[in-house]
Amino acid sequence: MTEGKYWNPVLETLPREKLRDLQFRKFQRILRWAYDNSPFYHRLYREAGLEPGDVKTFDDIRKVPKTEKSQLRAIQGKPPFPYGEILAVPLEQVTEFRQTSGTTGQPVYHPETWQDWEWSAESWAYALYAQGYRPHDRIFMPFGYSIFIAFWAGHYAAEKIGCEVIPGGVLDTEARILKMQELKATALMATPTYVLGMADTAKKRLGIDAAKDLNVRKITAAGEPGALIPATKKRMEEAWGAKVYDQVGATEIGHWGFECEAQAGEHILETFHLVEVEDVETGEPVTKPGGQGSMVVTTFDRLAHPCIRFDSKDIVEWSTIERCECGRTFRLFNGGVIGRADDITKVKGVLLAPTAIEEVVRSIPELGDEYQVVVTKKGDIDEIALKVEILPEHKRETKSIEERLVNQLRLRTNLRYDLEFHEYGDLPRAALKSRRFTDLRKQAH
Ligand SMILES: [Zn+2]
Repeated sequence: MTEGKYWNPVLETLPREKLRDLQFRKFQRILRWAYDNSPFYHRLYREAGLEPGDVKTFDDIRKVPKTEKSQLRAIQGKPPFPYGEILAVPLEQVTEFRQTSGTTGQPVYHPETWQDWEWSAESWAYALYAQGYRPHDRIFMPFGYSIFIAFWAGHYAAEKIGCEVIPGGVLDTEARILKMQELKATALMATPTYVLGMADTAKKRLGIDAAKDLNVRKITAAGEPGALIPATKKRMEEAWGAKVYDQVGATEIGHWGFECEAQAGEHILETFHLVEVEDVETGEPVTKPGGQGSMVVTTFDRLAHPCIRFDSKDIVEWSTIERCECGRTFRLFNGGVIGRADDITKVKGVLLAPTAIEEVVRSIPELGDEYQVVVTKKGDIDEIALKVEILPEHKRETKSIEERLVNQLRLRTNLRYDLEFHEYGDLPRAALKSRRFTDLRKQAH
């Protein structure tokens, strides 16, 4: 077991019943805070006939109305500008502006007070510590420090632990790689798309093998589910000769989950959040190991923009591991966020999670990292096309690759695809988050 400031043996190994009591008290406190200070929550609960005092037991939490992104968008623009009536502190106390970076829809604006900001950095510090970050680490941050929250809190969390942080903000990819090499950086934080893209650029443009010529031995990947998709994790770990850990959160919710050194799944940061899982169709709670559902999150102790029973529409699956070997009693999810309720879709009557396609594509070593999925409708029949790239040295093996791809796809997703093979480098590349799944059926109606 590890020692140190961000290993809290009292809170992190609490027996489940005690942890539940702690979460309940924290839930009551944030509920009262929001009711008393946020006009949005006050109205929401009054209309539902609920007062904070009505929540007397843990099971009463389910009586509290859920919130979702569309509500947050709707109140935005009303005073106080630009956050609207959700704001639960005087505007003068706001010290940071951020906005959501999702791939769809109007962004949601997010205020932080200095205290909330500390809280965010603190929550990341617990996770980074669990991933083995220590004061001797020198961490390179290859992201554009911008209005998106991205790795900002990761930067401050690493400083809190005592690591040395190199902000690689405005440098281009090649300059970042050279700087990492010069300074012998031991760790980095980036999206899976960029982790793979950097290794590729290093090899092709600079003749640098990230696994052999650089010193990076730990990578924290966030922003996309890749680090918990086994085939994508394997690609990243091999390209860098490093351990890759998943980290997950959202602007409205904060950072709620992390992978520890045992790499046994996604731990929920249960002293900072209450995470409930609900059946997508019935809305009933799902608590059994192996059970899947949509995640509803409450964030404790973040005051400016309270997040209470927020329906994230992220699909998750409870792990069957009772207790992680790291010693933490925080519950685990298998595979982190395995899909979005909006993306999990029926194709030809079969439920399909786009992450399953990624797992297949990236398990075939002759294929490049990029792929595109397009769902269309011809008459009444769904069609699904998958575009992949063949690495130049394997161009002659298209037939055998195709056979394996077809078999694996059928096995994992129960569907037949129209396959398109492209030259390496043909498919679009995104710098940060990639939108690789497109459903054109809705537009056809
Ligand atoms: Zn663990």
